[in-house]
Amino acid sequence: MNIEKEVLIISPVHPNDGEVAYFDLALIRVYKKIKRHHTCEIIFNADTSDEKLLNYILSLNPDIIIVNPYRNNLIDSVRLLNNINNHIPECIKIIVGWYAEPDYLSNYITDIENLYIFCGEIEELLPDIIDKLQCHNKFTFKEMKYFHKHGEKRSEKHLFYFNHRYSGNDNTGDLQPLYRSEERLFGWVEIARGCKFQCSFCIASSYNNRAYRERPVENIKREIHELYKRGVREFGILSSAINYNYKLMKNVFGILRKFRDPVSVSGTIHPAFINDDTVLLIKSVKWRTMIVGLQTINPAAQININRKMNPDVFREKILNISSFHIPEVEIILGLPGDNKEGFIKTVEFLLGLPVSISVYHLRIEPWSVFYFNRERFGFNIDYRNYGKVISNFTFSQKEINSCIKYLRNINLRQHKAKSIIFDGKTLSHSV
Ligand code: SF4
Repeated sequence: MNIEKEVLIISPVHPNDGEVAYFDLALIRVYKKIKRHHTCEIIFNADTSDEKLLNYILSLNPDIIIVNPYRNNLIDSVRLLNNINNHIPECIKIIVGWYAEPDYLSNYITDIENLYIFCGEIEELLPDIIDKLQCHNKFTFKEMKYFHKHGEKRSEKHLFYFNHRYSGNDNTGDLQPLYRSEERLFGWVEIARGCKFQCSFCIASSYNNRAYRERPVENIKREIHELYKRGVREFGILSSAINYNYKLMKNVFGILRKFRDPVSVSGTIHPAFINDDTVLLIKSVKWRTMIVGLQTINPAAQININRKMNPDVFREKILNISSFHIPEVEIILGLPGDNKEGFIKTVEFLLGLPVSISVYHLRIEPWSVFYFNRERFGFNIDYRNYGKVISNFTFSQKEINSCIKYLRNINLRQHKAKSIIFDGKTLSHSV
């Protein structure tokens, strides 16, 4: 027997990435609110290229389907929505998440009926909008901005997005999908959203209303306890940087230190907020993965990414940290203002430090300053390869490829760095 569902929520990507986790947690909050008035199902970690998933969706025959696509999964998610459109065109399809940017999506979507796009803080308005859609009501929300289909022209018909302030009061610990990381259960806790900076490449904090806001400590505590009760011993701390606020970090780490079983944390530390006080606190918990963003030491590229860091100051801060944990320092290949020489200089600088070097090929992501200024920086973007930059006004394709070759040939035995990771894959380890 087919059980018809009014609303089906699909999150296709494995939540091992903080940016995915932000919207997975938001979808749990949306689900809890929708459940009060509608039949609803939520599927995490769904393979959107799978025929079985399509057949399952068709058997449910939902009125509304909500999908959260991300990076290399975007093409498969759009294919899934096209297939749903072919079979049940009347089904309302809603794209949410970081990739819900009408202009960016117009690179992928040609014609899908009843399509809506939501970015921003979906937990605040999406449940109300679902109610309205189910009652076939017209939209009257002041907060909405409307776009014509595929973002070309504004109209009141097809697409819109909004930004709204989220209160941070809900609980996601009871429904969160958990996964294993080296024999331990892993779960996410959002402690803050927004950012104090605006790096030009960044997807996470660049859309409107990006102000840094913290969740109430009582709610964070409730979620951490819930996750611990479910067996979580490794906590991914969601915040642009855990060390932005000493008091919040002290509270969160204080909660984690009180558990009987030892727990560990993973998250991001901003170098600008590494000082003697924060280091003492950072040291007070066990770390699994500590990300520190550097991106480049090339001054011309630093201007373009809107992020300054003096290499000598950075070295000192890292040495302070690496006495108790080897951090993963992120840098980007393909920045405007950078070139082969500048990129190699950045890598050589990090090879002299006790760190793991994590290199990312620059991707131009929706909502980022780079995306909205892509012509100015001369970006040649490969949209079929999730927005990877093939070249820009200072970095030729040939030079970028030769930097990749250089990375593959680094012999770590001669250096202080512990490993080199390129786009998430380890290239070499020191022995
Ligand atoms: S890269 Fe980090 S510091 Fe920069 S805007 Fe994004 S979250 Fe903020």
